[in-house]
Amino acid sequence: MTTFATTPGAVAPGFRLEQKRRINSDFPGPKSTELAARRAAVVAKGVASGVPVYAADADGGIIRDVDGNSFIDLGSGIAVTSVGASDPAVVSAVKEQVEHFTHTCFMVTPYEGYIAVAEQLAELTPGDFEKRTVLFNSGAEAVENAVKVARLATGRNAVVAFDHAYHGRTNLTMALTAKSMPYKTNFGPFAPEIYRVPMSYPFREENPAITGPEAAQRAITMIEKQIGAESVAAIIIEPIQGEGGFIVPAEGFLPALAEWATANGVVFIADEVQSGFCRTGEWFAVNHEGVVPDIITMAKGIAGGMPLSAITGRADLLDAVHAGGLGGTYGGNPVACAAALGAISTMREQDLAGRARSIEAQVTQRFATLQAELGDHSIIGELRGRGGMLAIEFVEPGGKTPNADATKAIAAQCLREGVIILTCGTYGNVIRLLPPLVITDELLADGLDVLERAIRSVGVGS
Ligand SMILES: *Cc1c(COP(=O)(O)O)cnc(C)c1O
Repeated sequence: MTTFATTPGAVAPGFRLEQKRRINSDFPGPKSTELAARRAAVVAKGVASGVPVYAADADGGIIRDVDGNSFIDLGSGIAVTSVGASDPAVVSAVKEQVEHFTHTCFMVTPYEGYIAVAEQLAELTPGDFEKRTVLFNSGAEAVENAVKVARLATGRNAVVAFDHAYHGRTNLTMALTAKSMPYKTNFGPFAPEIYRVPMSYPFREENPAITGPEAAQRAITMIEKQIGAESVAAIIIEPIQGEGGFIVPAEGFLPALAEWATANGVVFIADEVQSGFCRTGEWFAVNHEGVVPDIITMAKGIAGGMPLSAITGRADLLDAVHAGGLGGTYGGNPVACAAALGAISTMREQDLAGRARSIEAQVTQRFATLQAELGDHSIIGELRGRGGMLAIEFVEPGGKTPNADATKAIAAQCLREGVIILTCGTYGNVIRLLPPLVITDELLADGLDVLERAIRSVGVGS
């Protein structure tokens, strides 16, 4: 078994690529333009890309394109490359594994890497009970399987999801996802027995004084009156919502829901696909309020960019499933497992949860100052988030009307200046910051300078 040295505050290792932003005047360059033309002839239009350039290399906080432009990466490929896109520990673990075998199928000829990842997850996830893990390929697949386990173990059908939720693009997970365009429109019919209840969204509550426990009670009353507690197999919730707008529920919301679930024999599933693995300044976002889910779904940050997902939960729930009931050809691929062990060792050795908290401090301080300076009549509605999962919600000045146009304009200006920034939110009016947690302070500061300039110029122009 691998042992890990924990060296809090260890110096980040050197990077292969210079950690510096540099954009040529002909951006997007000729090679990217040529690839765009080839792409249009063969790749389906339904797959859209946020930026018009094509990656050639990536390391630390930098993505270099095929024309030699270097971008500051404030998206991590949607919260995936928290350890960087070519973390040395991931690279060497992958190389070592790929030279021996790439696949045997764990359901045919099992191997140690799968077990080692499950051991790590049993240790890292909250809860001091016996746990079991199953590995898959994508976040959606993990969510699907968490629901399968909950339904089988409880003998119930109904699954409760929340407003603004995002759980994936497969049939069941589309049903769990709230937002229609672009995720669901005309892709139905959707999986049955999914019920949606109100989230705690402090910035947009009609009654701004509503507490977390009161918001939980609002959801619970709806569950009890409209579904019936005895019909509910599971509640699934993102402890901090991702695509829906980086919504952090009011304090006490998650614990009250989890408590109700336990009291009513309902499986509490935390979807930590985006918020897990040090992203929020803790190993998992539920840790901030001491919530212990029955099952946790994980994916994005888990394996330094290799496709791997997992469910980890109570042994009594997972072991209720008959042998052969869970699995998949590629689930827990040995190369992906090696990458996960490498990524987890980097998270431990470089204390990336601590790095995430430091990123939160730097970003929060800067944008709180900007918000105070711009005053109440600015486009900044709210700053929120935890760790390296931070967001700015933009509004029409002086109110709360979502300002998607300003959001788009800011992201576009950042890109022109060499900063890759993602947007999100039910109303498309949220900029989310998800830098690789290994990003240097200097590079982060440069990226935030660009973002701040874009906010000032768009904010003043509107
Ligand atoms: C991205 C995401 C998913 C889906 O993961 P895929 O790997 O894209 O299938 C599920 N849940 C949450 C919270 C996510 O952010």
